[in-house]
Amino acid sequence: MRFVERLLLENQAWASEIKHRDPNMFDRLSAGQSPEVLWIGCSDSRVPAEQLCNTSPGEMFIHRNVANRVCPNETGFMSVLEYAVAVLKVRHIIVCGHHRCGGIKAAMTDENTGLSHLDHHLDGIRNVRRRHADELAEITDDAERLDRLVAFNVADQIRTLSELPLIQAHWSRHQLPTIHGMVYALETGRLREIQRWNGEGCERVQACAV
Ligand SMILES: [Zn+2]
Repeated sequence: MRFVERLLLENQAWASEIKHRDPNMFDRLSAGQSPEVLWIGCSDSRVPAEQLCNTSPGEMFIHRNVANRVCPNETGFMSVLEYAVAVLKVRHIIVCGHHRCGGIKAAMTDENTGLSHLDHHLDGIRNVRRRHADELAEITDDAERLDRLVAFNVADQIRTLSELPLIQAHWSRHQLPTIHGMVYALETGRLREIQRWNGEGCERVQACAV
């Protein structure tokens, strides 16, 4: 069986199962959405937000791109953020990086990938790497160094997010949304929070946090 045929069959099975388990779910979802969370994650196929958080349809508003970047100059990104904050009024924004991220790995060097859009997208992460060059150089294990840059990148993205006028304006009026920096470990399936920001500043959630 071809892959897309499999997907269509799986979808029919899923819809039937949901209908059996929760007969009103599709009616509820048809009426509207009020997700609690905007998730900004990596496009990597190994990091499916809803599955790893065990959420149901309607609970997460999602934007994914390579290496979970906050992109103030991109209309696509900003329209998601604007709608999530101003209309859906999400209470939380999660920026989630993950171990062994291919985008972060590509940004570990200044070598072009040969993909012009991707290189442009990775520029900001290469700057993060340069800013933390001394600390990264002290880590001898390649995978560990990569995962450290993953955490630095998450911290950089939530700092950028917290400085946007849209977020600042909402913080001054509502003290929301809370912004969470998280890292997902592919090798264990575990998600951990490393930073939490609200209108009053940054809280380092774990001792190992950046
Ligand atoms: Zn990734």
